[in-house]
Amino acid sequence: MLKLYNTLTRKIEEFESIEPKQVKMYSCGPTVYNYAHIGNLRAYLFMDTLRRVLKYNGYTLKHVMNITDVGHLVSDSDEGEDKMLKAARIEKKDPFEIAEFYMNAFLQDIDKLNIDKPEIIARATEHIDVMEKYVQQIIENGFTYETEKTIYFDTSKLDKYGVLSNRNVEEQKAGARVEFDSEKKNISDFAVWIKAPENHLMKWDTFWGKCYPGWHLECSAMSYQYLGEQFDIHTGGIDHIPIHHENEIAQSKGFCGKIPAHVWMHVDFLTIDGGKMSKSLNNLYTLQDLADRGYEPPVYRMFQFTSSYRNKINFTWEAMESAKVALNRLREGYLRHKEGTETIEKEMIQKYEEKFLNAINDDLNMPVAMSVVWEVLKNPQKSKELKDLLLKFDAVLGFDLAHYEKQEESLSDEILELVKQRDEARQTKNWAESDRIRDILIKKGYLVKDTKEGTILSK
Ligand code: AMP
Ligand code: ZN
Repeated sequence: MLKLYNTLTRKIEEFESIEPKQVKMYSCGPTVYNYAHIGNLRAYLFMDTLRRVLKYNGYTLKHVMNITDVGHLVSDSDEGEDKMLKAARIEKKDPFEIAEFYMNAFLQDIDKLNIDKPEIIARATEHIDVMEKYVQQIIENGFTYETEKTIYFDTSKLDKYGVLSNRNVEEQKAGARVEFDSEKKNISDFAVWIKAPENHLMKWDTFWGKCYPGWHLECSAMSYQYLGEQFDIHTGGIDHIPIHHENEIAQSKGFCGKIPAHVWMHVDFLTIDGGKMSKSLNNLYTLQDLADRGYEPPVYRMFQFTSSYRNKINFTWEAMESAKVALNRLREGYLRHKEGTETIEKEMIQKYEEKFLNAINDDLNMPVAMSVVWEVLKNPQKSKELKDLLLKFDAVLGFDLAHYEKQEESLSDEILELVKQRDEARQTKNWAESDRIRDILIKKGYLVKDTKEGTILSK
């Protein structure tokens, strides 16, 4: 039985889908105004593991992730500058161009990490009409008020605001960092529809004139559009709990009187040297920064499995080095079993399977699941059955073991240089050049295979 921690009830619960064997799920996706950093990517690796564990348990998925490509303010609570417009100003580009560029960079990153993509990836800018209809219903239901430039959600109209973080409005007031904006009736009220100033670059013709939506609205409207009023699981980072997800719940209650998801799951933060990652401390890394230091994307995946998603994980270069060693051990061990000829008792295989399943079904306990993998690897009997077992586990782990083949150790410098040039050509989508180099390699007697980690050769 799959057990998951539910932030809403603050309990580990036995998971039961609304419809048998199908899971409807929504994940809050990135705001695409910059490259994703490795902290952001932790959130999507968690999402990936959850998808894989659900599939391993026999569920089919209908999973939506949004891409916030319309501006959202630096702070979640209607303050500060619009992130997208700020990036556009700094890079001297159109905000739509910024969004397009960083969305593609994000999609490439999740491919490199072998993240199993949601069935539906929904861009906010392509759903303005959906948001407009949704917000009009909330207005009709009497949950909003207008000021000169903004339509606010009136949180005092709810039976309770703050069901996820279990905070009341008084506590919020006490914790507020800024002066209470006098336009709002209650400190927890938030903008759902905003009149665009004359020179605002992202705006649409709507029922209230030239406007743009409040950030929280897109997730409510798009989850309703694709998954209906209520669905199984909603995921995000823990930073989403106090404002963004409370506001999604508020909107949904205003729209149809219901909390949209049964289970709310939140991934804790990646810290660095025990603290926060930030540009100013010069310790904000991307996947490319890791690659530049010799750590390919699956190494970062391996590193994530050293901690539960509900705990913080601290990034250090030493930890990356250990993860690299561990990944090599996994691949080498897999190859040894692949070449093995011994047979294994059925009970032994069953015992491993059971332990692995118990670990992943214990709220995605990946450190324990990995300990089972190490046991299998260390089994002195080398057997194809154990190779098959590892492949089965890899459906959850996502290391793409099936495509891993040992690199020939004695590749000459000339061949290595060709491989490097080919990988560079492929990265810049220079297919003609990559094909040209592939033909040279084939002539020299190599089988050329394209993998997520680049070109792999075998004789
Ligand atoms: P954003 O693009 O800023 O909306 O963030 C995308 C996702 O990354 C959200 O789910 C955040 O909760 C998550 N996130 C941001 N910083 C970190 C971090 N240091 N560790 C883990 N997740 C993070
Ligand atoms: Zn969201």
